[in-house]
Amino acid sequence: MNNLYGKTVFITGATKGIGRSCALAYAEKGSNLILTARSGDLLDSLKEELIRKYGVKVYTLVIDVQNSADVENKVNSLPESFKNIDILINNAGLALGLDKAFLATPTDIDAVIDTNVKGMLYITSSIVPLMLKNNSGHIVNLGSIAGDAAYAGGAIYCASKAAVKSFSDGLRIDLVDTNLRVTNIKPGLVETEFSKVRFKGDIEKANNTYKGINALTPDDVANVVIYATGLPENVQLTEIAMTPNHQADGRTVHRNI
Ligand code: NAP
Repeated sequence: MNNLYGKTVFITGATKGIGRSCALAYAEKGSNLILTARSGDLLDSLKEELIRKYGVKVYTLVIDVQNSADVENKVNSLPESFKNIDILINNAGLALGLDKAFLATPTDIDAVIDTNVKGMLYITSSIVPLMLKNNSGHIVNLGSIAGDAAYAGGAIYCASKAAVKSFSDGLRIDLVDTNLRVTNIKPGLVETEFSKVRFKGDIEKANNTYKGINALTPDDVANVVIYATGLPENVQLTEIAMTPNHQADGRTVHRNI
């Protein structure tokens, strides 16, 4: 038995990368899951895999976190048995391009800000009131070391992750008189589909991101999320920064090439 057994965990962006690894890691601990993302087919196959391997309860919701009405309606539609949410993982997010900020298109700017910032706010606003009914819960936001210091070509993404940091800090203040906890997890380079999305399917550019380094895996991040949320309820990790060895910060990477 562990602290996470039987808990209900709501994950955004559960179909790929860090979110998917978190889903598998929580299921292994015996947590029940609400998995959300835009790709319904991937949610269905992950649900089937988790039930078959771990025998946990899984509910899926196709949600685009950019759409506040979609978020509200889908969260309201949860069956009563899934409304006691213990852990929220605000993970859905992306970067688009690596150009100077003033060259970004309005469409790309909207996608990054609406997903990484507004999506996190909509989801949090719909779930925290459910947690407050039980005076219990843990909100984990996937920030980034990109939110600590900007890097070349990352101004918009870095600004979105700085917003994740500020929001996490402010929410922790808002909830200080409750039992709810808030943790901002800030990874460096993690090898996922993140770079493929950033470079709009250009595989060569995406692969170059990880060339000559031993990047973090999504499982590495999931292990840290599990650690932070499995601690006794009097312990709140406010922030955790993690990088692969040979990455010092968002700008400084040693590549073995
Ligand atoms: P990923 O492999 O591209 O996965 C992103 C996930 O987010 C997918 O499941 C995607 O699912 C979902 N998603 C994207 N837009 C969405 C939307 N509008 N509504 C709902 N779901 C959406 O990326 P990742 O590397 O795992 O990134 C996860 C988080 O970690 C992000 O917040 C990212 O900024 C952060 N992070 C990543 C790295 C890194 O190096 N990879 C480093 C630091 C922080 P669908 O396409 O099915 O919707």
